[in-house]
Amino acid sequence: MISKVNKEKGLDVRIHVDAASEGFVAPFIYENIKWDFLLDNVNSINTSGHKYGLVYPGVGWVIWRNNSCVDESLQFHVAYLGTNQISLQLNFSKNANMVAAQYYQIVRLGFEGYRRIMSNLMKVAGHLAEGLLATGHFKLIGHGPGLPVVAFALKDGRTDAKGNDIKYDEFDIMDRLKEYHWQLPAYNLPKNAEHQKMLRVVIREDHSFEMISDLITDMKRVIDWLDHHFVYTEKEMTDLRAKFSADHPDHSKKHKKHYHSPNNKKKAGVC
Ligand SMILES: *Cc1c(COP(=O)(O)O)cnc(C)c1O
Repeated sequence: MISKVNKEKGLDVRIHVDAASEGFVAPFIYENIKWDFLLDNVNSINTSGHKYGLVYPGVGWVIWRNNSCVDESLQFHVAYLGTNQISLQLNFSKNANMVAAQYYQIVRLGFEGYRRIMSNLMKVAGHLAEGLLATGHFKLIGHGPGLPVVAFALKDGRTDAKGNDIKYDEFDIMDRLKEYHWQLPAYNLPKNAEHQKMLRVVIREDHSFEMISDLITDMKRVIDWLDHHFVYTEKEMTDLRAKFSADHPDHSKKHKKHYHSPNNKKKAGVC
């Protein structure tokens, strides 16, 4: 496509592939997808060692098709430790531990190791997607071949325990899930689709089938709680509060006295 445009218009447009996440996934499980230097116009590719490269944070990689694809201005020639070296780094003195860790993972796991891990992650992601659909509460967003990532949202038209439209959203689910020690981010989609909210799970190597089953169980608990507690509109809450105050005019006075008198604290043995 780009070759055609380049030819017709006399341009020289090249491609940089941002394969931050997919660079350590696609080559192992989607062997038929052409996305790298097999495509004529791909000049450079980056990938993050700290994502599916399976190394701890701090390392990312970029490779160029050949020397002529790297602008001279990015290459620093330095005489260092007795030889002339070409350096492409942004800062020169840096610990090489991440590089050693990446080297170890590649040598230790090999192509077959990465292939097995990435295939397993896709299975775990599939288990989560199926489990979420089976709850009947969610729809998947953009699920399909790609990364071991599951994006999902509440199904449209859900009702709460009183049979009314639900009054909570994906951000409330995120908050309630923290009670079960899950940190699961909610997002609004970008501009022009910002009304769509979603939750996202990125499956990593240490996520087992059991862990995902636990997440689905806790998710059901959260939805059940929300269905029974987020059942009043703001107006209904204000009216209820007003009615309560009218019915119990001295409640707040008693409430204060009971809990805030220093004597009461002593008696109850509260320190
Ligand atoms: C994570 C990510 C980056 C940033 O890469 P780092 O290695 O974390 O600096 C860039 N692009 C995409 C699409 C990413 O997912």
